[in-house]
Amino acid sequence: MVNVKINGIAVSVPEGSTILEAAKLANVRIPTLCYLKDVQCVGSCRMCLVEATGARGLVAACVYPVSEGMEVRTNTPRVRKSRKTTIELILSTHKKKCLSCVRSMNCELQKLALEYNAEEDRFGTDHDLKPVDDLSPSVVRDNSKCVMCTRCVAACSLQTIGVIGPKHRGYAKEIGSPYDVSLAHTPCVNCGQCVVACPVGALYEKSSVADVWGAIVNPEKHVVFFTAPSIKATLGEAFGMPVGTNVEGKMAAAIKQLGDVKCFNMDITADLTIMEEANELLERLMKGGVTPMFTSCCPGWVKFAEHYYPELLPNLSTCKSPQEMFSAVLKTYYCQKNGIKPEDLYVVSVIPCTAKKFEITRPELGHYTDAAITTRELAKMIKEAGIDFANIAESEFDTPFGEASGAGAIFGATGGVMEAALRTAAFVLGGDGSPIEFREVRGTQGVKEAEYTVGGSTVKVAVANGLGNARKVIEQIKSGEKDYQFVEIMACPGGCINGGGQPYVHDEVRNSIDLKAVRAQALYDCDKENRLRCSHETPAVETLYKEFFGKPLSHKAHELLHTTYEKREKY
Ligand code: SF4
Ligand code: SF4
Ligand code: SF4
Repeated sequence: MVNVKINGIAVSVPEGSTILEAAKLANVRIPTLCYLKDVQCVGSCRMCLVEATGARGLVAACVYPVSEGMEVRTNTPRVRKSRKTTIELILSTHKKKCLSCVRSMNCELQKLALEYNAEEDRFGTDHDLKPVDDLSPSVVRDNSKCVMCTRCVAACSLQTIGVIGPKHRGYAKEIGSPYDVSLAHTPCVNCGQCVVACPVGALYEKSSVADVWGAIVNPEKHVVFFTAPSIKATLGEAFGMPVGTNVEGKMAAAIKQLGDVKCFNMDITADLTIMEEANELLERLMKGGVTPMFTSCCPGWVKFAEHYYPELLPNLSTCKSPQEMFSAVLKTYYCQKNGIKPEDLYVVSVIPCTAKKFEITRPELGHYTDAAITTRELAKMIKEAGIDFANIAESEFDTPFGEASGAGAIFGATGGVMEAALRTAAFVLGGDGSPIEFREVRGTQGVKEAEYTVGGSTVKVAVANGLGNARKVIEQIKSGEKDYQFVEIMACPGGCINGGGQPYVHDEVRNSIDLKAVRAQALYDCDKENRLRCSHETPAVETLYKEFFGKPLSHKAHELLHTTYEKREKY
């Protein structure tokens, strides 16, 4: 251990710790901008500069190691002046459109500028605006707001995609894709991890809010919303509630106040996905089909496989994602039951994800979803409608797609799809009394492995979250080092609870709590409190099979609930 003093507060930290880590222990806040826990630590932005004994000049606290007896000062006039000048230099090339910026009131640069009394125009604002890249169906890039922190580049590299990086030199330096092409023309998988890493309004989702408002006020349209499993655990953050607050009742109530709309629960088609996927797995295992079978509910992962591992496409479950299953059910079964023409039904999916915005454009999925909006876009609509979210009385989802199982809820966390599928597979083979909880696949570690006996057979499974981890697992399978029967992959680290469309969380919060674990816990609590724990128990799913699909993997189920994949180019 090493003994140091931060602003006179004595702390003892492991050797090799940085000043930033020591300051955290001493409860002293040092501002950061380019640093992001688990993503990047490069000391380039110079916001975290401090004075330290034994150091020459100011040093970057995020990378500078402590030494025995070191005394650190984080709040001297020299330090404050340096930070203020750094912010003012950033502002000199920044498109200052704070009033209308997507990150207004939630921007890390804006917060720092206020804290340090930075002058917006101290170094002038004479710079050219750069073109906005909005060709991608998922992510918009506005380099005129970029502060060159490179957090997005690090996030994309961690995903092992690397389609964005710094280009040019000096004043002309900017973030972009090779050969100056739009993000839409790269093998980007639309995961949006660059968006959640960005501290400012330089990256954001392609918004569908205006289209949804247009449908709501159109008297010809029947508008239905459905919300993905993880939204209930994250939407509250956009209204200042603590991370991990379950706001399901408030969310359903707020959506129904947006206009004459219905609000359904996507956990139901997470349950439907499990019915199809668990049966597909059992069929592959029993009939000698292609294994290991990979889950297919994450469109970021599916596109990754199409670009980088096309040889594995036969291994992907043919099941559509819960989003696409729900939209197909609504535009067929629901329309028939309610005498609505499919073209008059406007289906809005609320998702944690920028990849699902791309997914709805895939022709093989039938274009059943009219708009996919992120958690952030839903929060924006609720605010725009003047709804008092914190005090709204809770409501239930609308029938017939309201009550779902706890298995559907945990879909939003890494390991959740695997556990939900194992519950139903165990029931199909073993009947009542089969195990409900498969705890080995829970948790936010990058890769989890387990071995279970299901109906007398041994099933080896793996769960990977984040595409860097997915790549490791795939390479181990390809080399023969590992042998699994079932593999769950979610593109986003932690799964959908940390998706690219989830509420922005300031670096200070991200750096101080295990955001993924706290959000996931809200879903596991929801599962535990649910009277239904398994997908096959969900009444709406039973009705759908009884009245429409017949049985899992039926001809009709294949027609509406399953899909195909295509090989795509990589660079
Ligand atoms: S969306 Fe994902 S793959 Fe695309 S640039 Fe951003 S981090 Fe990279
Ligand atoms: S786009 Fe955002 S995350 Fe990327 S370098 Fe610019 S400011 Fe940083
Ligand atoms: S993990 Fe979830 S949020 Fe992330 S890309 Fe996949 S489906 Fe979307």
